Amino acid sequence: MSSSIAAARPDSVLSRDEIRHDWTVEEVEALFSQPFNDLLFQAQTLHRRYFDPNQVQVSTLLSIKTGACPEDCAYCPQSTRYDTGLEAEKLMEVEKVLEQARAARASGATRFCMGAAWRCPKPRDMPHVVAMVRGVKELGLESCMTLGMLTRDQAEELADAGLDYYNHNLDTSPEFYGDIITTRTYRDRLETLEHVRETGMKICSGGIVGMGEQQRDRAGLLQQLANLPQHPESVPINMLVRVQGTPLQDEEDLDPFEFIRTIAVARIMMPASHVRLSAGREEMNEQMHALAYFAGANSIFYGEKLLTTPNPRSNADMALFDRLGIQPEQREVERPPETPSAQFYNAAAAGTPAT
Ligand code: SF4
Repeated sequence: MSSSIAAARPDSVLSRDEIRHDWTVEEVEALFSQPFNDLLFQAQTLHRRYFDPNQVQVSTLLSIKTGACPEDCAYCPQSTRYDTGLEAEKLMEVEKVLEQARAARASGATRFCMGAAWRCPKPRDMPHVVAMVRGVKELGLESCMTLGMLTRDQAEELADAGLDYYNHNLDTSPEFYGDIITTRTYRDRLETLEHVRETGMKICSGGIVGMGEQQRDRAGLLQQLANLPQHPESVPINMLVRVQGTPLQDEEDLDPFEFIRTIAVARIMMPASHVRLSAGREEMNEQMHALAYFAGANSIFYGEKLLTTPNPRSNADMALFDRLGIQPEQREVERPPETPSAQFYNAAAAGTPAT
């Protein structure tokens, strides 16, 4: 390599401390505004230092309580304030949830995520969700829940039951946040994350792009996440799913390369975290998925509608994994001998998870 080419290598970010908590928005914007290839080179280089670049973790999401949520998140079809035609459902029975968890395990998922459309769990709900966590853990699966805001005591109760991850997204930058949600504050969200951390659970927290925010807001979101005292172990980056009836139903498309840039910047800022492709995947083609994996995405979400897919081998994700030489990330779990290890659901139905 000639010295002039070597000097032009975009490795300035790679030579600094990699796990940082002191990002400025200007630094993050500078990452975003690099030439695309330079940004992806940095992201992929860091990715390889922390992860096998050919493994992607697979989680399954089940909605344990759907709709009728009192919050006003402008992107969410589960808010009771918007007429989206969604049929509300009560909290599922524990045994029904465990049935779905067993199906998920039999199909190769290693983590089972349960989401409830609540502002926060009520005291009467806690025994049920605690029983779900215990049951999922007994199946040898990692467990994750998203139930809205948590008090410190509720976080403690879930941690004691063995909950591994708690999902609570920051959604967007503090500056843009008020355009999207008015019924809870950014501070409320940060407090829930603090409670979760204090009890020793892992954090899953990310946001949604394509809601009409500016690049500075995407930078601001990632700055907030990376500047937490400890990076979230899992960082979902959702692309807005425009649902008829929600205030964001007519939002303009985000440039797909800007989405990939967001993944790459998240990977650079939180190199040891799983960066997850979640909502919006059904509108991304194979090439977008492949670019996202190259940019550092190494986790995907499957929706619950997929649990009953009759022919997993025709699954689009499985086929793409095969073509790209990607393996599902395996976790050391006790599996019954008859359990197949690498089957997948059809991923077409993943939706925006509750926060
Ligand atoms: S994102 Fe969560 S909190 Fe917001 S309206 Fe939807 S279910 Fe409720």
